[in-house]
Amino acid sequence: MTIIDRYNDATAAIARAATDCGRDPASVTLVCVTKTFPAEDVVPLLDAGHHVFGENRVQEAMGKWPGLREKFPGVELHLIGPLQSNKAKEAVETFDVIESVDREKIAAALADEMRKQGKRPRLFVQVNTGAEPQKAGILPGDADSFLMACRDAYKLEISGLMCVPPVDQQASPHFALLADIAARNGLRELSMGMSSDFELAIQLGATYVRVGSAIMGHRDYKQP
Ligand SMILES: *Cc1c(COP(=O)(O)O)cnc(C)c1O
Repeated sequence: MTIIDRYNDATAAIARAATDCGRDPASVTLVCVTKTFPAEDVVPLLDAGHHVFGENRVQEAMGKWPGLREKFPGVELHLIGPLQSNKAKEAVETFDVIESVDREKIAAALADEMRKQGKRPRLFVQVNTGAEPQKAGILPGDADSFLMACRDAYKLEISGLMCVPPVDQQASPHFALLADIAARNGLRELSMGMSSDFELAIQLGATYVRVGSAIMGHRDYKQP
């Protein structure tokens, strides 16, 4: 199986999952997660016309994507990994969508950079639905007030919410919780579901699914 074979399988599975629950397949966008893979592994997907990608590290994306963007205009690059406020400048320069807004310091730094650069990446708030101490994301109980602060104090428009459920638990309650927080805050977009559970996430309302290994293959974490 090539990357393209797996990509075709994934897009077919996404469309089927949407149709099966009465949703328009066009309402679900595949974010192909290319972290740890070199630019040459991404080219076949770009050649096939895919244009929405995710990276979890600012530094890695800065090395990989400017060259690819020159050859393939129209790329939409999502930051799906944790963001440090001292990387806000590079993040705003490099990404079209930042999915990991999760604290006021980041909101302030992004607002500042967006003003300076005159660039407005779309923003998602990451929610730590499992309240895991090691994981990024605002706690579920703090999400409403944080969303209000983003809008009122920092004048940031938030498009939706993102979560990464705990690895050792059923994902569905986490997806349902994220959908609930989004609904009561009037947010339309839900980034949830990865290689192992994107079909379930689609059933529970995902508008973006972030799929890495099911398309790209096994990741070698020893790579820088
Ligand atoms: C790596 C990653 C993914 C993709 O995970 P797979 O299981 O390989 O599909 C999705 N979301 C985030 C935040 C990630 O870091």
